[in-house]
Amino acid sequence: MGSSGEAIRSINHWDMTVRSSAATTAKKATEDFGSLTFNEEAQRARLPKDVYRALRRSIAQGESLDPSIADIVASALKDWAVEHGATHYTHWFQPMTGITAEKHDAFLNPTPDGRAVAEFSGKELVKGEPDASSFPSGGMRSTFEARGYTAWDPTSPPWLLVTPQGTTLVIPTAFVSWTGEALDKKTPLLRSMEAISKQAVRILRLFGSKAQRVVTTCGPEQEYFLIDREFYFNRPDLINAGRTLFGAKPPKGQEMEDHYFGSIPDRVLAFMMDTERELYKVGVPVKTRHNEVAPSQYEVAPIFENANVATDHQMMTMEMMRRIAPKYGLACLLHEKPFAGVNGSGKHLNWSMSDDFGNNLLNPGETPHDNMQFLVFCGAVLRAVNKNQGLLRFSIASAGNDHRLGANEAPPAIISVFLGDMLTDIFQQIEKAGSAKTTKQGGVLDIGVTVLPKLPRDAGDRNRTSPFAFTGNKFEFRAVSANQSIAWPNIALNVAVTESLEYCAVELEKGLKEGKKLQAAVKLLLSKLIKENKRIIFNGNNYSDEWQKEAGKRGLLNHRTSVDAFGEALKPDVVKAFSRYGVLNDRELKARYEVALEQYNKTVNVEAQLAVLMANRYILPAAIRYQAEVAESVSAVKAAGANAKEARRSLEELVGLSEELKVRVDHLQKLLEHESNGEPLKHAKYFRDKVIPAMTTLRETGDALESIVPHDLWPFPTYREMLFIK
Ligand code: ADP
Ligand code: MG
Repeated sequence: MGSSGEAIRSINHWDMTVRSSAATTAKKATEDFGSLTFNEEAQRARLPKDVYRALRRSIAQGESLDPSIADIVASALKDWAVEHGATHYTHWFQPMTGITAEKHDAFLNPTPDGRAVAEFSGKELVKGEPDASSFPSGGMRSTFEARGYTAWDPTSPPWLLVTPQGTTLVIPTAFVSWTGEALDKKTPLLRSMEAISKQAVRILRLFGSKAQRVVTTCGPEQEYFLIDREFYFNRPDLINAGRTLFGAKPPKGQEMEDHYFGSIPDRVLAFMMDTERELYKVGVPVKTRHNEVAPSQYEVAPIFENANVATDHQMMTMEMMRRIAPKYGLACLLHEKPFAGVNGSGKHLNWSMSDDFGNNLLNPGETPHDNMQFLVFCGAVLRAVNKNQGLLRFSIASAGNDHRLGANEAPPAIISVFLGDMLTDIFQQIEKAGSAKTTKQGGVLDIGVTVLPKLPRDAGDRNRTSPFAFTGNKFEFRAVSANQSIAWPNIALNVAVTESLEYCAVELEKGLKEGKKLQAAVKLLLSKLIKENKRIIFNGNNYSDEWQKEAGKRGLLNHRTSVDAFGEALKPDVVKAFSRYGVLNDRELKARYEVALEQYNKTVNVEAQLAVLMANRYILPAAIRYQAEVAESVSAVKAAGANAKEARRSLEELVGLSEELKVRVDHLQKLLEHESNGEPLKHAKYFRDKVIPAMTTLRETGDALESIVPHDLWPFPTYREMLFIK
């Protein structure tokens, strides 16, 4: 029996178990929400009033916290955690690799009389010192100077990691070297949020706003696959690379489109509900669940939050899904492209800016006055994307995302903006006449000389093909991949928009100084913005060949592979902007480039090694066993005096493919023996131009064999089984 038999039996069993088990959640979701976080309510209940206020001020306004206060917070936090069963705490951080890291320490401290007490000081809360030597620093530091510190981020609430055997207090932290350079993703994210706040407030002031701070908000929609865990364990590629390196196309793919938004299978729904409940407890506001386009593909999305907290919550969501899936006999695949020929997984990053009164700055609004402000912010984003196509492309570059971008299911590698007909029309009118007088779809719009128009809330139709779309009151960055942290796309956007907002502020301030009315200055700015940046707007089908041509004519960047895109991080304008706003100095930025390249090289290398292993130790032996069977049958038939013409043809085909497989696997292996001279970019190009094509042709032969070797001899679960049996 092939490896799938057991799995299929157990799947049948799972379905019945889930159906017959009674509901276990007695509590209301609203009671569960945040119950395992040291949230504002817990802080208010447990901290002295002045400490509580100081902490809240620090969170809301980014003021730094007095060290004497940290001791009091630490003690209250520890009491709260211990009451909830915690024995340990951890400084949780996000190294440059994109994963999360944690080192656990016990609260327990022995006393001279042979007992022990739970202790936790302000110092321990504020600063940790994990051994940083094995986290990549992108050349920022050598291993002998491995000091790295974690620093408490008071703006992201601590939470409890509860497992059946015990509970750990998790404290979100930033991770920096002893020189203060950022070794992680949170530090530059926080820095970029401070930068954008400054410039956005500067513009708001011109419009008479009293806002003190602006935060970026984000809501990431996560796509993922769930397959049975038994199948997963029988796929070396899924275990070690997160995606399948072999696998013939199933007879039925997603062409029937019967999965998207379809009813959710019981076992999957049980997984979703359990995951959501656990996420509620740690304060992650998950909102939406549904089936996605591909078979066995799903999506989960939260309600948007402050981008820093949302980024932490997104990491927690991925972690939670991986953790809960086995409980239901499932494996959660977060790779961008687990199955070739089937839709890949993205992570739509919905992004906007909000002032400290809670006003969404990308909301078209009800009054003309607001609209003028809106058009400036919207125009600033347009300019930011146009000027920073390379940076944005870099922020989503990875070996995994290369399988997805540009395929006919995901946005192309060309960055452009979808504005929708309505907004595009308004900007066009501004461009032509200096102001807009009508709205395309009739009705309320009237951008006269004195006032700008009232815009409809839904500023146009949807367009699923655009990598960066305006969707009513926010932008949606869709080229982000399922597997990646959203920190970098957020940072890239923040820096790009900060630079653009500063440009707008300078222009407006100049106009005012020259004695122009605000309205006149805005009009001038808007027509400039649209004239200089309109090439970035594209409302058509981004999947089409025409767009590839058109984008070329417009001079838009088109880095088809990540290897081409990595260098964008080092372009002078990018380096300048990152250092100007204090987000990353040139060394820190270079480190991100180095780490991205290194990750690329490691990923492709592991995949190629795996492909060799699977071909040599699984596929070839199966093919040879079958060959022996067919050969035996051919001679038996011949000996019996009958004609074995067709059987002989089968044999020849089989022998041909087996030989070809061997030749191709040897070729790939040889390519891998090639030593790079240590220059990572050169190495990456070699992987892209030599190794990946060799993997592709090897796969073709492997997949051809899959379609003729009998099921009971085939060593892996097939696409059909993994995607359709659930
Ligand atoms: P769709 O993508 O289908 O339009 P929604 O409109 O529900 O779906 O939004 C998707 C995501 O966008 C959700 O996570 C939602 O919270 C988030 N979102 C909505 N408004 C904002 C905003 N102002 N800033 C950031 N994210 C937002
Ligand atoms: Mg969406």
